[in-house]
Amino acid sequence: MNGEPENFRKLSGSPPLPPRCVALTFDDGPGPQSADLARLLRQEKVPAMFFVLGENVPLHRGALDVIVDCGHGIALHGDEHKPFSSAAIAKQQLKRCRAKVRDYLGKAIWFRPPYGCGDFAVKGYCGPVGWDADGQDWEITFRQGQNVAGCVNMIVSRLQAINGGIVLLHDYVPASEMRQKNLSDSDLDLRVIEITSSLIARLRGEGFSFVGLDASVGST
Ligand SMILES: [Zn+2]
Repeated sequence: MNGEPENFRKLSGSPPLPPRCVALTFDDGPGPQSADLARLLRQEKVPAMFFVLGENVPLHRGALDVIVDCGHGIALHGDEHKPFSSAAIAKQQLKRCRAKVRDYLGKAIWFRPPYGCGDFAVKGYCGPVGWDADGQDWEITFRQGQNVAGCVNMIVSRLQAINGGIVLLHDYVPASEMRQKNLSDSDLDLRVIEITSSLIARLRGEGFSFVGLDASVGST
């Protein structure tokens, strides 16, 4: 999300996918639209990975059942939305998040640190997973100027330039960030379903295929 700390190396584009393939990933959920999003993706036969935040799980736990029932993956984004500033913090955050979603995890447990900050491998987990393309969708959510068409165009242009890759989207915002900014759901402009639907159509039109993260070279 916004407000990225600058003193950590940002992850980028790991792990590599086969050419012309795209993997959709959604951070910061579960949220109020995550279940509908999961159903849309199933309907479109697009696999997705949801990097959930432990702090948001109690708010929208029911969405996790729908995500898994629709054939998508649950992965870890940490318990709180803070950069992984050391290997010890990465391990602790993943452990706490994992405890909240343990019934929903697959055999391989992927993770992505908040802000993509914290390039630490953690034993027992796959990652850290970066991304190759984003459309600054958080600026739509927080009404900071981006719009759906701009977001989709940005992602499509980037994927065309690099022949596919991992896309970063957000299906919600951290509950702690909402509290900090004194915001409620009605203050947000959450357009993840519209963005995803438009993005799938555009990328299919450009001849890309959708794959899960397990199609990546680095998968176990
Ligand atoms: Zn995040």
